[in-house]
Amino acid sequence: MKKMMQAIQVPAPGAPFVLASLPVPEPSTDEVLIKVEACGICHGDALALEGNYPGLTYPVIPGHEVIGTIVEMGSLAASFWRSGQRVGVGWHGGHCGQCASCRRGDFWHCEHVRTTGLSRNGGYAEYLVAPSNVLVEIPAGIPSREGAPLLCAGNTVYAALKKSGAQGGDLVGIVGLGGLGHLAVQIARNLGFRTVALTRGKEKADLAKRLGAHHVIDTGGEAAASDLRNLGGARFMLCTAPNSRLIADLLPGLSRGGKMTVVSFSRGMIEIPHALLLGDAITLQGTAGGHMEEALSFCEMAGILPMVEEFPLSGAPEAFRRMMEAKVHFRAVLTMGGAHA
Ligand SMILES: [Zn+2]
Ligand SMILES: [Zn+2]
Repeated sequence: MKKMMQAIQVPAPGAPFVLASLPVPEPSTDEVLIKVEACGICHGDALALEGNYPGLTYPVIPGHEVIGTIVEMGSLAASFWRSGQRVGVGWHGGHCGQCASCRRGDFWHCEHVRTTGLSRNGGYAEYLVAPSNVLVEIPAGIPSREGAPLLCAGNTVYAALKKSGAQGGDLVGIVGLGGLGHLAVQIARNLGFRTVALTRGKEKADLAKRLGAHHVIDTGGEAAASDLRNLGGARFMLCTAPNSRLIADLLPGLSRGGKMTVVSFSRGMIEIPHALLLGDAITLQGTAGGHMEEALSFCEMAGILPMVEEFPLSGAPEAFRRMMEAKVHFRAVLTMGGAHA
């Protein structure tokens, strides 16, 4: 008889999550079977419900912040990985290795790219099969539960800050203090930036300071950009808040030649005066991806972990709803039992 597992599936576009009992998948020659310990819940998982993501077919198991241990391997995978090894799987779920992008070494833009939890099954499950060439090694000092959100949330903000062009001592603003922002403040501080947390209201000011912010600015009023200019203007701002209006309002807070990177998703439009772009020579850009093992290693070195709310696999619907309503402090993580401490 086939070994069975519990998993959360999206059966069809827009349909609610279903807890299903499914056969444990079998790895092919270049794949590994992972016993999942923890899987973070990310805004990107909402795409599994929308139904128009390239390559998405139903039913699908969401989840792209996965940490677990290898329990079975194909013969090719066994040359590089070993049974019992703790590994992670992030957003990038596979590439062909043959197309023009892959031949340039740009696997992220592979013409046949697979996305974990969207165009192949993800980690809202007790077991997951993944190609061995997308795995990352999890450092010993990173626990599975808190480590899972580092694979997408942590990696995204780390990569944006690392590529920001800012240097030690530069004024760097982190906009929003949720799942992404509370990691970004810790990383910015540890990269040596003069770190400003920009958050609505006063209730998160103490938290921002505890996480390492040198300054806290309330974005609820009209004065946030001028408050930043009074500190000398931000060399770089990382926007983790999905608020187009706020992005436009804060841009004048950049120093001349400064840059803002947006990592939050919204369907809104950002309105920017030409005079600001040209007069102050500012840059506005988006980003995704990054080097996950570098981000994990940095977080281990600096002792950076997210604050998480833990849910059992069967609690995925509630965890997802709380995440969508921005009620989670600060990342929701599913644990499958037996998680590495
Ligand atoms: Zn994500
Ligand atoms: Zn390719």
